[in-house]
Amino acid sequence: MSQSEPATGPASSARPRNLSRLLTMTHREGPQSRAALTRRTGLNRSTIGGLVAELSARGLVSETGPAGSSGVGRPSPLVAATDTVAALTVNPDIDAVTVGLVGLGGVVHKRVRYPTGGSLSADEAVNLVAALVAGMRSELDTRFSVLGVGIAVPGLVERGSGTVTLAPHLGWRDEPFGDRIAAATGYRCTVANDARTALLAEAWFGAGRGRQDFVYLNGSASGIGGGIVAAGQPVLGRHGYAGEFGHRVVHPGGEPCHCGRVGCLETEVRRDRLLAAVGLDDTSAEQLPAALAGDHAPGVAAEIDRQLGWLAQGLSDVITALDPEAVVLGGFLADLAEASRGRLQELVRHTGFAALAADVEVVSAALGPDVLTIGAAELIVADLLADPQAYPLARPDGDQRLR
Ligand SMILES: [Zn+2]
Repeated sequence: MSQSEPATGPASSARPRNLSRLLTMTHREGPQSRAALTRRTGLNRSTIGGLVAELSARGLVSETGPAGSSGVGRPSPLVAATDTVAALTVNPDIDAVTVGLVGLGGVVHKRVRYPTGGSLSADEAVNLVAALVAGMRSELDTRFSVLGVGIAVPGLVERGSGTVTLAPHLGWRDEPFGDRIAAATGYRCTVANDARTALLAEAWFGAGRGRQDFVYLNGSASGIGGGIVAAGQPVLGRHGYAGEFGHRVVHPGGEPCHCGRVGCLETEVRRDRLLAAVGLDDTSAEQLPAALAGDHAPGVAAEIDRQLGWLAQGLSDVITALDPEAVVLGGFLADLAEASRGRLQELVRHTGFAALAADVEVVSAALGPDVLTIGAAELIVADLLADPQAYPLARPDGDQRLR
């Protein structure tokens, strides 16, 4: 992008792209001064002024008073993404349905977990979500501009259709879950696999920030999922299934997996076994990180060591295939790695193909329990970032609701 490119006229082809760049920067990286936006984009000041004015007229950003005068010249106002432009989020899992509301900038306004005492059928989940959204409706209508509903599901989700092809732990097969939530709530919906959703959140707001090539593995009650970022972009695969690292065979003599194979990473590296080793169960699972920290009884140490060994083996194969700069671990995998600090990195170095594994960083995910909520919102916000001009201009009364 050169400064001489005519980017200010409404007919300019550069304008939609520049609006997208500016909104994406303020959304993912927080409030920025006009001076910083000018410097970082290479556009001139009046072009930036025009772009900010348009995003502001559309209600997507606001200027929040001058930044400090640390630089040279006049202080520049901060341009911030509007956090009342928001996405609803839904995450059905085996023991609860979590509903959230996330504004631009990754601001989590709400995240409520509704325990279900077991996994719900798709019908039951649709009815529950419809009732919860109906309960939030007056608050949503008066305070927020809702872009749609982002949905993270623990299972295979077909790219494009959003059909949940198979969610073994929920017992769902070929469920058009997104279409059904859209029909029940009146909002546009986008559905994706939960680990791929978490990957987006960690990529833009968490441990992957600033990294171009990394893999993400998340461990949950229902197994191990993952995702890939290559050259700064998520890798989805033809159907959207890329990154199912949990079904890499690491132990051919191990236990049978629901996928039909034997000794998959997720049958060997398991939260329930760690819980049992430290005397906890599903209902007290939130105590696992504390129970794994500090000194371990011999039985616990042996289980940690055993699981770290299989995890290192699985990671080494992933590293050999993808040559990432980092491996980001979420959920109980992060707790497992931190239970024996430095050990996993050392195992990866020894197990892996040296030239590739030697300097790969193994780090914990950064977003904690908000990760799926922030990621599911990104599924919806992505369309707005790609084309801010598709978002309606604010009406004269200031009402920007989409409905
Ligand atoms: Zn498997």
